Amino acid sequence: MKVCKTINEAKYYIEQIKQNKLNIGFVPTMGALHKGHISLIEASKKQNDITACSIFVNPIQFNNNSDYEKYPLTLDKDIEMLENAGCDMLFAPSVAEMYPEPANEKYSFGALEKVMEGAMRPGHFNGVAIVVKKLLEIITPDRSYFGEKDFQQLLIIKSLVAQLNIPVEIIPCPILREPDGLAMSSRNMRLTQDQRVIAPEIYKILQASKDQKNLNSVPELKKMVSDQINCISDFRLEYFEIADAKTLTPLTDWNPPVCAIGFIAVFMGEIRLIDNVKYF
Ligand code: AMP
Repeated sequence: MKVCKTINEAKYYIEQIKQNKLNIGFVPTMGALHKGHISLIEASKKQNDITACSIFVNPIQFNNNSDYEKYPLTLDKDIEMLENAGCDMLFAPSVAEMYPEPANEKYSFGALEKVMEGAMRPGHFNGVAIVVKKLLEIITPDRSYFGEKDFQQLLIIKSLVAQLNIPVEIIPCPILREPDGLAMSSRNMRLTQDQRVIAPEIYKILQASKDQKNLNSVPELKKMVSDQINCISDFRLEYFEIADAKTLTPLTDWNPPVCAIGFIAVFMGEIRLIDNVKYF
């Protein structure tokens, strides 16, 4: 696997690939890789000649400095995992390389950024948009892969490439889970042993809510999930919202019928976990 630390190195590598008329799949990440990330690499390998990954912990998308400073860094292990997965190229730039000047572009995503992660983490999606635009410009992939774990981010990225006419196909990938149901996340490694035992309850409660969908109104189902989360003292519920999968408009009724998704954010100590469940 070719490891590029500078934009010039990465662009040079990509130029050679394009000269050979090979197509490129791209998986942007913040590292501390797990099987969820690797599932995106695998999806890209199936559809493209060359798969590139990036690892960059993007400071401007963190609205909480301690979360940024404590974000796990495991580059050597990440490189090993990417090599084992057959990734062809890794772009792992420094902060100075990506932001020689402070980034000040402002993007607007309308209703998509007004709810849930957008409401709770001011500036987060603007930071995500800035870095993803830069990365897509450097790597110029044919396809780029994003996990449904960060479902709202996926819609924001789709909106970004549509607004800026970036010629890339955005491919959604399903959530990969631990055997006990916990959605894989780089932040899981920061949970204590005790927290890690309890964390899968989030998934269990979400799954159980699927069976309750037809028996309850939207407000009843929201209350049921919220109450169940709040019953567990290690959890601090930030939000549970049921929203339209296309527009992210929060639902108040199951009618008119739309594809609905339940979105949750829960704190365990200072670790923030997110997950979602499809009700269709
Ligand atoms: P991150 O490194 O957390 O920024 O994630 C990089 C990409 O991997 C994003 O598109 C995430 O949605 C995706 N991802 C993270 N965790 C999972 C998971 N458990 N299953 C599928 N995709 C994931």
